Amino acid sequence: MKITFLGTGTSQGVPVIACTCPTCLSEDPKDKRLRSSVLLEDDKTNILIDTGPDFRQQMLRTRVDHLDAILYTHEHRDHVAGLDDVRAYNYIQKKPMELYGEERVLRALHHSFPYIFAERKYPGIPQVNYHKIGLDPFKINSTVIIPIRALHYRLPVLGYRVGDFAYLTDTNSISPEELNKIRGVGHFAICALRKKEHISHYNLEQALAVIREVGPGQAYLTHVSHMMEPTAILEPELPENVRFAFDMQSIEI
Ligand SMILES: [Zn+2]
Ligand SMILES: [Zn+2]
Ligand SMILES: [Zn+2]
Repeated sequence: MKITFLGTGTSQGVPVIACTCPTCLSEDPKDKRLRSSVLLEDDKTNILIDTGPDFRQQMLRTRVDHLDAILYTHEHRDHVAGLDDVRAYNYIQKKPMELYGEERVLRALHHSFPYIFAERKYPGIPQVNYHKIGLDPFKINSTVIIPIRALHYRLPVLGYRVGDFAYLTDTNSISPEELNKIRGVGHFAICALRKKEHISHYNLEQALAVIREVGPGQAYLTHVSHMMEPTAILEPELPENVRFAFDMQSIEI
């Protein structure tokens, strides 16, 4: 399976509009972060996690020629705002897009995109099938998906484990039982917003503590804010098996 980080930035992306901080002014491509999303590709199946505001640009720049399913972590705008653009795949694939997420996320999508879920549909709007999921593992074609419960302040969110890869964003709390689902995983992506503490996201120190508990082969920090110093400055401080994820980074697992 091939994993591609399509975006690794927090809700505003990096650089932030009109900001002149050192990270926003950095010319290092690793400091240019679209909103967080990852693509999981195996021989037959392409699965995306989240459709943020940069979904269209991400599909174009990574040349994703087909998409079988979308998994949602939670309903915040930086994870769902691009849903309207799945129309492109509806036209080409001549079928609805298969969406997977919790019931609460479906309700939020109904609210944000009422026309998509309307009984009498306007022609040309996105076509979707929504699959309500809980914490039980499920399959998309032959790929097994294991949902992982975490908390984003008080909001329950889902991370996902697929084979030897685990993805956990927008959280600042996870129970030991849920961590058991990912202990010793080969590749582990986790949010690390900034150095300073935050009410609903792990900061760098907290993310490193979770990584030590999980004990992955390699960890990738994602959902990064411009308040994190430039990657080239911070990376030497990180443990050997931890790196910042960067946009368009691909790993084979
Ligand atoms: Zn987010
Ligand atoms: Zn900035
Ligand atoms: Zn969020």
